[in-house]
Parts: sequence; C-alpha cells; structure tokens
Amino acid sequence: MDIKQLLKTSGFRFNKQFGQNFLTDETLLDDICLDAHVDGGTVLEIGAGAGTLTRALSRYADKVVAFEIDRNLEKILAVTLQDRPNVSVVIGDVMKYSMSQIERLCGSDYKVVANIPYYLTGPLIMRFAEESANASSLTLTVQKEVAERLAARPSTKDYGAITVALQAVADVTVVRSLPRELFYPVPNVDSAVVTANFRRDKFDLTSRELFRKTVRAAFSMRRKTLLNCIAAGFGFSKERAAAIIAECGFEPDCRGEQLSVEQFVILYKTIEGALSK
Ligand code: SAM
Repeated sequence: MDIKQLLKTSGFRFNKQFGQNFLTDETLLDDICLDAHVDGGTVLEIGAGAGTLTRALSRYADKVVAFEIDRNLEKILAVTLQDRPNVSVVIGDVMKYSMSQIERLCGSDYKVVANIPYYLTGPLIMRFAEESANASSLTLTVQKEVAERLAARPSTKDYGAITVALQAVADVTVVRSLPRELFYPVPNVDSAVVTANFRRDKFDLTSRELFRKTVRAAFSMRRKTLLNCIAAGFGFSKERAAAIIAECGFEPDCRGEQLSVEQFVILYKTIEGALSK
C-alpha cells in the first residue's frame, strides 16, 4: 500500500500542532515491533497516524488498541486497517482518557508502542511511570535528545528529574537511532527509539508525591548544592537540610545531579523520616 499516495489523493493536510511525522519504511516498522518484543498480547499505540506502525503491530500482537486525535485521519485509517480485525481505533485525545479507562480497553497486561507526538513526550511518560498498573513496557520513538535524557547516567548534563522518575520504576535503554529523513514529512530533529521495561517493585516508593517533590527540589537549581535545593524545596533551615544530607551519607557539598536513582530513594526516605518527627 502506497501511504504517501493515499494521503495525497485523499487531500490530507498534515497538522504540525499534532506532531504529525509519519514512518513509512516497512522494515523499520517491523524492527520497532521487534525492539518492543511484541509477540502476541495487547499493544497500546498512541497516535496511529496513517496506520503504518499500527499495521505492523497487528501482525505481531493479538490485539492493538490505537488512539488517534485527528478526525481527518479516520477515513484513511479505515482504508489502511481494513484487513486488520485485531485493531480497535479510538478517535480522541488520549490525554482526555483516565488511566483506568485506558487500562479497561487494554486489559491487565499490555505494551505501549508508539511514535509519539513530541509535545506529549513528558506528560505521557510521567503518566505511564506514575499511574499505570498494567503497562509492562514503553517502546517510544522520541526526539533523540529526549531519549538520551531518559536513559542518562548521573553526573551528565542529560540527567534530570524525568530521568530519575522513569528509572525509579523501569530499566531504560536507547535501542535505535532514527535520522530525520526516515519520517514523512521530514522534521527538524533526529529521533531515537527508547524502551522502558517496567519494574515497579524496584524501589519502595510508597509516597510517590513526596518522591516527586524530592526529585523536583534536587534539580530545581542545577548550580546550587543539594543542601540548598532541599532547604528551599521543603522550607527547611540550612542546618536541618545539612543533617538530612549527612544522615544519607552524602558529601555536604554534593549536587542533585550526582545522585544515583538509589541515592534519590535514600534521600526521599530520609526526608520522609524527618518530616514525621
Ligand atoms: N504512528 C504513526 C506513524 O508512526 O507514522 C503516526 C506518528 S505521528 C509522530 C503522531 C500521531 O499522534 C499523529 O497522527 C497525531 O495526530 C497523533 N496525536 C497527537 N496528539 C495526540 C493525542 N493527544 N491523542 C492521540 N493521538 C495524538
């Protein structure tokens, strides 16, 4: 099926606001399914576009649930997916669906595989990291710099709050580089495929809100010490913040970006203890 021709003849106009840069190379689409280890089961795709990745996924999965916000793609998807009975298309904004609505559609165990619109990257990843109970993995095509941030190691410029939030519940790897020329139309940035395999029991994060606040505070002022960031973020005196840093066993002048994910968990638990005193 010539997707580009179909889009042209149906008079489809790309909507930049929705991040519409489609993948059409069949081999690459198959490779993304393999990157995600799709082998039966259910896949959630966010942003079906013209249905190219959807078609590939439907060959490997038992069931594909695909969201697409743009009504103008509905009739194109009806053509490209006409011979795919295991695909359910939901026309709508995925962000307007609660996680429980999504998980009712996808069931108790599913993988997320998507070439996501760039404007949704942060919010979507945070939602699946923090709210999903049933997604076993994310395999996402994202802007190259974002992929590097998600998989970053401590003490690098890419390491930040989203890195820690995701790596606290998942093992994250950049698995493939995608030069911009592979997209139609060609965007201004290169991309990469990143996988996050969830291990939600990796750490005991009973108070997610406090963990989030700790991480946010630690990265709030990158040039300041962790001590100053924690004092400002929690309204602690310098002495109290220093006592917390010492109790964690960290250097007094360390910075948030130097802490490993494990050390962030130690910090959050210590703050939790301090707050309960
Ligand atoms: N999966 C297709 C592909 O790989 O060729 C399309 C990927 S394109 C980068 C992202 C798609 O997400 C677009 O079709 C866009 O209309 C859709 N989209 C954007 N925001 C959305 C949202 N909030 N909910 C559902 N779909 C969305």
